[in-house]
Amino acid sequence: MVAQDFTPDLSVVCPCYNEEETITPFLESILPVLEQTACSFEVIFINDGSSDKTLEKIRSEVAYDKTLRVINLSRNFGKEAALTAGLDFAKGKAVIPIDVDLQDPPELILQLVSKWKEGFDVVLAKRVDRSSDTLAKSLTASLFYKFHNSISGIEVPENVGDFRLISRKVVEAIKLLPENQRFMKGIFSWVGFNSTVVEYTRQPRAAGETHFNGWKLWNFAMDGITSFSTVPLRVWLYLGVLCSGIAFFYGSFIIVKTIIFGVDLPGYASLVTMVLFFGGVQLIGLGVMGEYIGRLYIESKRRPVYIIENNDEI
Ligand code: UDP
Ligand code: MG
Repeated sequence: MVAQDFTPDLSVVCPCYNEEETITPFLESILPVLEQTACSFEVIFINDGSSDKTLEKIRSEVAYDKTLRVINLSRNFGKEAALTAGLDFAKGKAVIPIDVDLQDPPELILQLVSKWKEGFDVVLAKRVDRSSDTLAKSLTASLFYKFHNSISGIEVPENVGDFRLISRKVVEAIKLLPENQRFMKGIFSWVGFNSTVVEYTRQPRAAGETHFNGWKLWNFAMDGITSFSTVPLRVWLYLGVLCSGIAFFYGSFIIVKTIIFGVDLPGYASLVTMVLFFGGVQLIGLGVMGEYIGRLYIESKRRPVYIIENNDEI
């Protein structure tokens, strides 16, 4: 067990959700790398309400190694919350969030640490090859980053996940952000600090399956956009002005036409089309507003981001 007052150089933070098969291979590959860094370290597992034997597996490892710690959340709160718990409890001078499925190669930690020692506060691990992802996933991801970055004030780097090194300064800055709905990639970027990039090739999962399917990813993207941009709300103002402008000119045209050519009745089809079109546009506008109001509602409850069931090791 890690002593209360011990401050390691590195804290490795690993959110785990149903990862019973990957814990042991993960430790087998990361521990030798951490030894090589010549830094003192701790590895914190956050069990995010796994329903398999993940917790037992972690506990059996923790029992034999005093550099390992475990935080057990009371249910599945999602990766962002698990990561937040890890950052809150990490004691290291630098923190490295990493997935346990070995998709983030542990060897890269050597490069992350050497850049940190050069003086960078943020060292991003960038995937240069996404061939381990499906075409649909890499395409939608790329579209999301482009859209997100074009409408939000921050730049979330493309092809960069949560795998990175952040210094204590950055961790403390992140802890100042009180929001409940935590889009960590955005939060990491929002706090700033001097950063650099190291590149790697993303491997397929060591075992098990991804927890992020299409619908979850869509909601994740919505969280990202609504957390860091109000453009989707404001766009309706401009769309409204545009539609009113068009309606005004079209109305004027009809009046002039009626004065000159008299009244004619045709126009039922175009009327119905326009009523339906504007009905649809208004509903979309309302829907977007609903997205934000829903998030405001959740946020206003000030619920904690996660609940810890027990953390006997801390
Ligand atoms: N994860 C988590 N809680 C969740 C979903 C995932 O802690 O609700 C963890 C998971 O155990 C893994 C990491 O987040 O360590 C990344 O998950 P995954 O590999 O499923 O995502 P992908 O790599 O496919 O984006
Ligand atoms: Mg993965």
